[in-house]
Amino acid sequence: MGDPDLPAVDILREEGVAIVAGSVTDLAGVTRAKYVPLSRLGAFTRSGMGVSPSWSVFCVDSGIAFTPTIGVAGDLRIRIDTEDLRVIEAGVAWAPGVLADQYGEPAVLCTRTRLAVAERAAADRGLAVKMGAELECTMLAADAGPATSEPWSPYGIRTSLDRSAFLVDLATSAERAGLSVEQLHTEYGHDQLEMSLAPDTPVATADAVILARIVLSRVASRHGLRISFSPVPFDGAAGNGAHLHLSLSDADGPLLSGGDGPHGLRADGAHAIAGVLDTLPDLIGVYAGSVVSPLRLKPGNWAGATACWGLENREAAVRFVAATPGNPHGANMELKLIDPSANPYLAAAAFLGSALRGIDRAMDLPEEIPENPAQSDIATRPLPLAQPEALDAMETSQVAAELLTSDIVDALVAVRRYEQKTYGDQPPAQICDAVRLAWTC
Ligand code: GLU
Ligand code: MG
Repeated sequence: MGDPDLPAVDILREEGVAIVAGSVTDLAGVTRAKYVPLSRLGAFTRSGMGVSPSWSVFCVDSGIAFTPTIGVAGDLRIRIDTEDLRVIEAGVAWAPGVLADQYGEPAVLCTRTRLAVAERAAADRGLAVKMGAELECTMLAADAGPATSEPWSPYGIRTSLDRSAFLVDLATSAERAGLSVEQLHTEYGHDQLEMSLAPDTPVATADAVILARIVLSRVASRHGLRISFSPVPFDGAAGNGAHLHLSLSDADGPLLSGGDGPHGLRADGAHAIAGVLDTLPDLIGVYAGSVVSPLRLKPGNWAGATACWGLENREAAVRFVAATPGNPHGANMELKLIDPSANPYLAAAAFLGSALRGIDRAMDLPEEIPENPAQSDIATRPLPLAQPEALDAMETSQVAAELLTSDIVDALVAVRRYEQKTYGDQPPAQICDAVRLAWTC
């Protein structure tokens, strides 16, 4: 009975799949989806499913940040590829989609396409790129309040074993969904959890981040829990990061090791780190631009809120991880500033694009800060940490437009300004309450 062009239908039917989801992640960082019955999979891949262009400017709540160019008229399609399909729970398969126009051309606001463009730009320079992702999140009770009230023990064997049935189900479900989980642990913050994913090509990694959020959220609900991917779920509590690790190689091998620069950096590796640091003020609105993000970007939170780099420095925006026997994936730079309110495709595109720009311009690597930047004598460039300043910097930035297109920057500014206008004047605890579940999948 299956579509002759789509043997996938027969395989999925045998696996008990009845409906197929195709998702896109919007500029507020929220993932949205349309579903078809399995028999319509062919239409999802060939024509796509219709969505309003306003999907890109939906906000963290039910608001829509219409812009002069994005209104109520027009239509786009979510298109998926059968190769990306994964079974995410009984009867349901999912694939990450692209936003396309009715002729199949990528829509200007498609962030997955934007990351693919950055990936191609690296390939055009003869560079292979790998990205790894860490997902920090907070377990909540079913009513979205705190999951536990007893004292927490960071990375505690007690706090993890108390949840072992959930963690076992999580590891099994993640493997079944095709995720390559590197580590799983309870984190520093109360009820906080972290799952890290093995490095892969950038689009594959951003897809895996969305899949991992779906798996985390769904498995948690089977155990009477909910998961918050808010940068700060409760005012005053530890924040959730969405750190990305980046490594680059050319025909001669890795750029971040094997050279005679600091910690073995090759010249282009040093330029790449310099490029990432150079664009931080312009791109903080991409990496950590939500109304709740500034509550996390504080000294002492290991959130990388200072524009500097340093070997294994967890307070630096860029933590350098050297090639050692303890690090089988090789040297990489970790951008700690990113939080889970960011669209992972866009954050990865900005991160990679900035590194390539640093290489193109042979940018000088600033002095390393090897210690806590708050106690260092070495001066750093201030970052626009408050949301209004971050958005102003991004809106007027030539670099942001160059790396992400001015259409994306304008739409991103619109959704984040909506947050500022709606919630910006509220006390922090109220802001945290309002968006605690905004990024849950
Ligand atoms: N939770 C911290 C953050 O907000 C990161 C802690 C860590 O380094 O793992 O980014
Ligand atoms: Mg962590």
